[in-house]
Amino acid sequence: MDNIKIKKLDVFAKHGVYKEENVLGQKFVFSAVLYLDTAKAGVSDELEDSVNYGEVCHFIREFAEGRTFKLLESLAEHTAAVLDRFPLVKRIDLEIEKPWAPIGLPLESVSVQISRGWHQAFIALGSNMGDKKKYLDDAVKAMDDLDGCRIVTVADYIETEPYGGVEQDDFLNGCIAIDTLKEPEELLDFLMDVEAQAGRVRTIHWGPRTLDLDILMYDDLVMNERRLTIPH
Ligand code: ADP
Ligand code: MG
Repeated sequence: MDNIKIKKLDVFAKHGVYKEENVLGQKFVFSAVLYLDTAKAGVSDELEDSVNYGEVCHFIREFAEGRTFKLLESLAEHTAAVLDRFPLVKRIDLEIEKPWAPIGLPLESVSVQISRGWHQAFIALGSNMGDKKKYLDDAVKAMDDLDGCRIVTVADYIETEPYGGVEQDDFLNGCIAIDTLKEPEELLDFLMDVEAQAGRVRTIHWGPRTLDLDILMYDDLVMNERRLTIPH
């Protein structure tokens, strides 16, 4: 994918494990590769069709100066909020160097590099107890409110008959397409929280439930682990 590179932006900030670092501050050097489709801006020659790298640099600087993290890992993770702030950026490779790291030895620099991006997922929703429509509506709202998650499409809900041999009420089912910054396991954790908030209890396998949320697909990922099978 096309990209815009920001090389070695100096920021003076107060991140570090030692108290002195949080008081005195030191130099941090940010480099980023912003992945986006530049074709539209290439044809139109209009800045609004691309990402203003000046704004990205200022965003990074204000972000890094405005708070204090102990770890470069955490600073990097949070700075990836560039993805939330600049919607055209689909993916970011971010490197943060700390040239004055106080380790008591001469070193040129230490750095952390991460890569984060938007993923497309499809979530199935189901309920066959109580106010089924409200359970589904509340789940859609919870996804919409989640940081690093955008709802792309909500399909019409449909009534379906139960599956699996347990005598129970009909289901109301739905499906949503989302863009998310969450990794599959994080997404599952979040879905299980939303199920728990809807009073979901797991007693009978394939039995009645207030709310069931399953990850149907996640990009083109195929996985079969203890907690997650995708596609589902
Ligand atoms: P089901 O959805 O099959 O009726 P549950 O909702 O009780 O059953 O889920 C049982 C387990 O399925 C969960 O604890 C979860 O770890 C696992 N699971 C495996 N793959 C997925 C997936 N793609 N989405 C949601 N849960 C999954
Ligand atoms: Mg489930």
